[in-house]
Amino acid sequence: MNVLVINCGSSSLKYQLIDMTNEEVRAKGLAERIGIEGSRIKHTTIGKEQVIIEEPMKDHKKALELVLKALVDENYGAIKSMDDIYAVGHRVVHGGEEFASSTIIDDKVMEALNACIELAPLHNPPNIMGIEACKELMPNTPMVAVFDTAFHQTIPPENYMYPLPYEYYDKYKIRKYGFHGTSHKYVSLRAAEILGKPIEEINIITCHLGNGASVCAIQGGKSIDTSMGFTPLEGLAMGTRCGDIDPAIIPFLMEKEGLSFDEINNVLNKKSGVLGISGLSSDFRDLEEAAENGNERALLALKVFCNRVKEYIGAYSALLCNVDAVVFTAGIGENSPTVRYHICEGLDCINIKLDPELNSKVRGEEAIVSKDLTSVPVLVVPTNEELMIARDTVELVKK
Ligand code: AMP
Repeated sequence: MNVLVINCGSSSLKYQLIDMTNEEVRAKGLAERIGIEGSRIKHTTIGKEQVIIEEPMKDHKKALELVLKALVDENYGAIKSMDDIYAVGHRVVHGGEEFASSTIIDDKVMEALNACIELAPLHNPPNIMGIEACKELMPNTPMVAVFDTAFHQTIPPENYMYPLPYEYYDKYKIRKYGFHGTSHKYVSLRAAEILGKPIEEINIITCHLGNGASVCAIQGGKSIDTSMGFTPLEGLAMGTRCGDIDPAIIPFLMEKEGLSFDEINNVLNKKSGVLGISGLSSDFRDLEEAAENGNERALLALKVFCNRVKEYIGAYSALLCNVDAVVFTAGIGENSPTVRYHICEGLDCINIKLDPELNSKVRGEEAIVSKDLTSVPVLVVPTNEELMIARDTVELVKK
């Protein structure tokens, strides 16, 4: 039973074909530069060599057409025909307040998704384009939308309301939504499995630290707070996003630098974070190397990043009262022992103690890296959003 998982960006289409009888990936790939010159697909069927398909792709429909062709190709494909695709699962960034869980896609859902564009103008349109392309090319295959925001719909109002005039919530639905929900859900479930405890009975703080980064407080399997907000700009310092700043800085800068709305948006989203502080890179591998070689601004950027994560872990410990596990995931969380070490440094006061020796060896694999059995378990769990999307897809289609 194969599920095709699709994740569309503005000029890209990431895909995985997962056999849900054993949850193994059969093929995966990335179509990039859609609508731009030089478009190509990097396609890999597991057990076969990667192929690069260079062909013009004017839109997401053309990209999907080529992806489907690659999947059934006699030489480098993974399946005989498109009938071997049981269902398609789509990652959708924003489901607004409408969707607290994944949903089968029908005309009503499409209407609701279009209504959410206003909340995620950069992310939702390409997600919708991907769905439209699938509807045209595989009209009889069931499709499911899995939302980044859905897992956070359990956040109580006292944690999602901003202290702004209430009318803005009524008029524009301005509130915290949270993102990376599929990842926070997957790694918390996996952590509970690793610890051998029912998820309903434990509290977990999950740290999704990638180019975009967020922390989540999970009580009995339910998100009760998260660091990203109305948009993915709030919270931690990120690769290029500023995270929490004094909102008064925005009009101040606009006036001083003569910046338009688009320009200040660009500064906050693309030129800030660790890139902004270091002036060097948004990639933690570059920053760690530069810091080791004495680059003070790279070191400062890393310190700011780690301190922000530490502050959120502290805040969420207070919110959860009892913390049964802290989980690190995504590009940085999975692969940087240094960042994990500095985040946990000094958290002995809340019984979070890393084993430096164990921690230093873990990159990209599941492991427990805390000191001993009396301290809060700290885990590294590689995220797998695609699998979570495929699981939800099968569950809903079967129903
Ligand atoms: P993601 O958005 O989850 O794909 O994470 C991407 C980020 O992970 C990159 O920008 C790097 O900053 C970081 N990353 C990946 N590998 C490593 C590594 N070995 N050490 C430190 N950071 C890493």
